[in-house]
Amino acid sequence: MKVLFLHVDYIKFKAMKKALKNPPELTEKEKKEQKISDALVAMISVEKSDSDVKKSVSELIKNIKDIAGQIKAKNIVLYPYAHLSSSLSSPEIAIKVLEESEEKLKKDFKVLRAPFGYYKEFELKVKGHPLSELSREIRFEENVDAIKGSEEKYNPSQLLREISKTKLDTSKLKENDHRIIGQQMDLFSFSEVAPGMIFWHNNGLILYNELINFWREVHRKSGYQEISTPQILDKKLWQISGHWEKYKENIFLTKYENRDFAVKPMNCPGAMLVYKSRSRSYKELPLRLSEIGVVHRQELSGTLGGLFRVIRMTQDDAHIFCSEEQIENEVEGVISLINMFYEKFGLQFDHVELSTRPEKRIGDEKLWDKAEKALESVLKKKKMKYKINKGDGAFYGPKIDFHLKDSQERTWQCSTVQLDFAMPGRFELEYAGSDNRKKTPVIIHRVIYGSLERFIGILIEDKNGRFPTWLSPIQVRVLSFTERNVDYAKKIIGEIGKKIPNLRLDADFRNDTVQGKVKEAEMMRIPYIIVVGDKEKKEKTLAVRIKGNPKIEKFTTDEFCIRLEKEIEGKK
Ligand SMILES: [Zn+2]
Repeated sequence: MKVLFLHVDYIKFKAMKKALKNPPELTEKEKKEQKISDALVAMISVEKSDSDVKKSVSELIKNIKDIAGQIKAKNIVLYPYAHLSSSLSSPEIAIKVLEESEEKLKKDFKVLRAPFGYYKEFELKVKGHPLSELSREIRFEENVDAIKGSEEKYNPSQLLREISKTKLDTSKLKENDHRIIGQQMDLFSFSEVAPGMIFWHNNGLILYNELINFWREVHRKSGYQEISTPQILDKKLWQISGHWEKYKENIFLTKYENRDFAVKPMNCPGAMLVYKSRSRSYKELPLRLSEIGVVHRQELSGTLGGLFRVIRMTQDDAHIFCSEEQIENEVEGVISLINMFYEKFGLQFDHVELSTRPEKRIGDEKLWDKAEKALESVLKKKKMKYKINKGDGAFYGPKIDFHLKDSQERTWQCSTVQLDFAMPGRFELEYAGSDNRKKTPVIIHRVIYGSLERFIGILIEDKNGRFPTWLSPIQVRVLSFTERNVDYAKKIIGEIGKKIPNLRLDADFRNDTVQGKVKEAEMMRIPYIIVVGDKEKKEKTLAVRIKGNPKIEKFTTDEFCIRLEKEIEGKK
């Protein structure tokens, strides 16, 4: 069972059309709009594995009571919501679970149950406190035990048919939605067998790798070291770091030799262990350890969307270990890097937020004063516009977040800089000061792209798929006018390839019309399309369509290569 809990100021809903053939008849009350204020709403998907109704009801009630207790809710809304799962139970089971839960909860709460089997319109206002949005997954292990005892029996071709092909519904998407362009340019795909995890195709992976190459080059020059830490780590480490208490619902767990391991949802603890691998001196600070880290975070599959919200993401992370005196300088360095990256890609922040000390916090007040002042003075020095989010910092330190907009006008956090006074203590990190006394460093967590997946999504939509040439998966395509021109076209490809060995160049010699081939190359947003016909052969020139411009330009092969090489090398 999957449940999304929302603590709301109010919710109102009304049954519209039948969603099932024979849903339960509506009472007079249910035919009208129903409204309740100040309630805990449980959006529920009852799944195939919930066939034991009694057990399912008891687990659901346990979860509802737990959350209702924490937020002191007296009103409960049971809201059947099929969109959280692709493995729903039969309607009969689902309705039983909902009805019985309602009966039981009535003893302690005022309960409202939304109609089952109807499309409903609904409106709600979610409160803004930290527990107001929570999800729970209720799972029963029984079936697994039954399988263990007997020999596993399955039919591969049957299973294959169960893997439904995910087809993109484009009807509600903008033309420049990254999912549409991703398909046109053959960048990536998704499959139901790995929700929220991207299958990068060759073209998309080129883009991904070019972004990483550029990032590495810049970070090397900016005094960062690069590390790579394990993908799964003993659960203990997450208890030390503090992620366990705050985050355990989102962590993928696994077992190995009877030990509990977690698939990393963050890169921080790995970096802490690298820092701790030997004794450190003030001379090494600031120590900037960067990591292109792949992290996994559980999210309900219903809330995933293309590249923007994923389960598996690549973070361009870094942890800077520094002294208190170095904070301002380091933050300034990070913000310069962020500005440099976003200028390079011609992207503009929708807004920048500085989040300051929350009510519940750790660390000395003086340190908070210093840290907030450091962040703010850097923003001012850089003449950046920002809003202050008072009290919205992490309990371990203040932060600056950078937000960008997508094609649907939604904003997404990309870069972030966070100061941390907690983790150094929890991991007992230290360094020898110039007086040889032990001191505790401060940590700056920061990402620039944020998640590479999300950044690529933003970039695709902002550029409508027309990336600068250095990023383009295919940089040049050579088309033959007719069969007669193929040999000469091959000769040209050889010449260009010799002059620019790393060029991503391909050819289309199919027996199709030139218009058709140009159209396809344009769909792929290939920046340089060379058409070779009789005339070009005779004149020894190249006719080039540049970046979607219908005007054809003429070059000799030499001229073309010089221009192209300069453009790619300059990453323009
Ligand atoms: Zn971190």
